[in-house]
Amino acid sequence: MIPTKAYAAYNKSTPLSPFDFSRRNPGAHDVQIEILYCGVCHSDIHQARDEWGGGSIYPMVPGHEIVGRVIAVGAHVKNFKAGDIAGVGVMIDSCRVCKNCQNDLEQYCVEGMTGTYNTYERDGKTIAQGGYSTQIVTDEKYVLKISPKLDLKAVAPLLCAGITTYSPLRYVNVGKGTKVGVMGLGGLGHMGVKFAVAFGAEVTVISTSASKEADAKKLGAHNFLLSNDEEQMKKYGGYFDVILNTVAAKHEYSRFLNLLNLNGTMIIVGLPSEDPQVKLFSLLTNRRSLLGSIIGGIKETQEMLDFCAEHNIVADIELIPIQQINEAYERMIKGDVHYRFVIDINSLRN
Ligand code: NAP
Ligand code: ZN
Ligand code: ZN
Repeated sequence: MIPTKAYAAYNKSTPLSPFDFSRRNPGAHDVQIEILYCGVCHSDIHQARDEWGGGSIYPMVPGHEIVGRVIAVGAHVKNFKAGDIAGVGVMIDSCRVCKNCQNDLEQYCVEGMTGTYNTYERDGKTIAQGGYSTQIVTDEKYVLKISPKLDLKAVAPLLCAGITTYSPLRYVNVGKGTKVGVMGLGGLGHMGVKFAVAFGAEVTVISTSASKEADAKKLGAHNFLLSNDEEQMKKYGGYFDVILNTVAAKHEYSRFLNLLNLNGTMIIVGLPSEDPQVKLFSLLTNRRSLLGSIIGGIKETQEMLDFCAEHNIVADIELIPIQQINEAYERMIKGDVHYRFVIDINSLRN
């Protein structure tokens, strides 16, 4: 077994603190990765605090935006060798045989995908533990190739925030001239802006934070809509073709549905702990749609990473030592993140 240092949530209410555990030795198809960086996703907070009500599994090592260096591979591993830079995202396994797995949509595996943490691995007994840790051992089918040319600490957030926004924007064919609104300028939101701009869309950031306007423009957004301002909200009534909703907290969905044009779609990727009420008139007017989306399949995640390498797209990050993780959580809850915290995993090794 491989001794591994980590930070874990021991229950839903106390701060994360140090935790030592063991990873399995790499099996024939496994890749052993020495983790260098791990992004901090709002889903880490939701799960550490059991905010989705599923009954979280403790001790929990969160983290599913993992970038590191391969240090060993199993005998049958074909695509990785020691020294490669590799990534692990939100999913470490799935059934591999259902129609969705066969169609590169493992995130919609009919048996349920196996998450990177807060679940059991497919043996039914090993607790999957995430990337706030020094090592991870994962089947190569669920490991991504990362170009060593990019700034690795800024690549880590692509593994969740990147693919979660890239996939649905592609699915609804965002392209030249599409009017896209991105709700919530946090980790997911700022990647959504970068991708929508790269795909040629006209992009508006829809935010509750007036202080983020200048950053929104720097990220490439063309417009900024302060959603607390009713006058501005009125001005954008019926305007957008697509709204990417990344908001992590309770809000009134109908107010934002009213911003959609005929046949407009609101993509829901944000997962607040409380389910919303939707006014049906806001949906039926203009024949609007709500579309949910979860991360992306492994093939599409690799495509997204390659797209980012080609177009020089990475996240805007604040690098922190693991010892600052609890403070980072509090800042994210206040919307005070610019625009992704990334943990320097070396801070666990000292
Ligand atoms: P984040 O970095 O904390 O950003 C969320 C943003 O939402 C904030 O920066 C803020 O932006 C806005 N916001 C916060 N409180 C708000 C409120 N009360 N009303 C309106 N807006 C508010 O979070 P994230 O990591 O991007 O994650 C966002 C959500 O997506 C989370 O719920 C997460 O669990 C979910 N998620 C889903 C998937 C998926 O596969 N579907 C994957 C990853 C994450 P402004 O200051 O600009 O308003
Ligand atoms: Zn995530
Ligand atoms: Zn499956």
